[in-house]
Amino acid sequence: MIGRALIEDFPILQQKIGDAPLVYLDSAASSQKPRAVIEAISRYYEHDHANVHRGVHTLGSRATEAYEGAREKVRRFIHARRASEIVFTRGTTASLNLIAKTYGEAKLGPGDEIVLTPNEHHANLLPWQRLARQTGARLVFVEPSPEGILDETRLTQAISPRTKIVALAHVSNVLGTIQPIQAAAARVHEVGGVIVIDGAQSVPHMPYDVQALDIDFLAFSGHKMLGPTGIGVLYGKYELLKDMEPYELGGEMIDTVSLHEATWRDPPWRFEAGTPPIAEAVGLAAAIDYLEGLGMNEVEAHVLRLTESATRALGEIPGVTIYGPRAGRHAVLTFNIGSIHAHDTATVFDSMGIAVRAGHHCAQPLMKRLGVNSTVRASFYVYNDMQDVEALVAGVHHVKEFFGDVFG
Ligand code: PMP
Repeated sequence: MIGRALIEDFPILQQKIGDAPLVYLDSAASSQKPRAVIEAISRYYEHDHANVHRGVHTLGSRATEAYEGAREKVRRFIHARRASEIVFTRGTTASLNLIAKTYGEAKLGPGDEIVLTPNEHHANLLPWQRLARQTGARLVFVEPSPEGILDETRLTQAISPRTKIVALAHVSNVLGTIQPIQAAAARVHEVGGVIVIDGAQSVPHMPYDVQALDIDFLAFSGHKMLGPTGIGVLYGKYELLKDMEPYELGGEMIDTVSLHEATWRDPPWRFEAGTPPIAEAVGLAAAIDYLEGLGMNEVEAHVLRLTESATRALGEIPGVTIYGPRAGRHAVLTFNIGSIHAHDTATVFDSMGIAVRAGHHCAQPLMKRLGVNSTVRASFYVYNDMQDVEALVAGVHHVKEFFGDVFG
């Protein structure tokens, strides 16, 4: 079972906005949470909470077990080799910054190159900009096609012996395009570099196997995959993590401390200074259980089906501009209606109970390439259905009527 029937499990989706039932099409920004996740967090706070890795008391052991159990669950979900390759962070942004600060600052120098695309989310651009400024390394941008499709040959040809890092979103949060990350991984490994994957829009939607993809570092966020805010993951191959310096320093991440020196624990704890997001890890584990209950193959097929139907339907409406490819896009549909500002479209949608994102989607360089300041983005997830696609189509017709003069 997948689609609208799941709304039973999502209390927040059962409400009305004004008189209209909520149509939630903003899961790429943040997904909603099933009762199972909310209850797992409540249960943890009601029965098991204490700090982790410290107390010898019963609650401390339960909390530690729950927290480390969540790590093992994430390991299985992305098929990492060992749980010590899973670092809990605040989210995708924090994970990417951690890699740039620790691995990046240690490994890069003048003349080295970081290969990426102009379509990246700011979270996968700004940390590399700063790293390049600090180390004298150079950013190399591989141009996608006007539709936003990244050619595999072009990408692999941009990777040279100077390339130390390739940093790519697996799935674009604006165009829904799927980047050829496997070819990039194979090529960058030939020249001794690493690949960093921004998995914010891919891990929630597809079966994932970091070993099969041969990914060196992967960043993703719990809140986009039915889990709570405040937790994300940095996956790193153990042989890379074990040689990296910590990012933050403090409690929980040390081996020994004297007044002038300290030594670090092994990964992953070396990268988890201070009290970690324990309840959030419990919630993320419950989210993974829920997704696995649906089956990730089914989740992917469902999301692709809805995105494809919506793209086809909106593509047939005169005056609608769709950004990115018409087929093969993953979970997000980005568009504008005539010359109507995206915020105006989203405001009219909201009056109909339809929640979409409007703006630059944290990808200003991409917006510039598209020649617009902002776009509307509808995104789909497990609880959406064809009914929501129909509501979106009705919304577009309503916006056109509302701003009729724009179309003459
Ligand atoms: N990368 C991509 C592709 C995203 O879509 C997002 C979220 N919009 C992020 C990074 C940042 O994720 P977070 O805000 O959870 O750190």
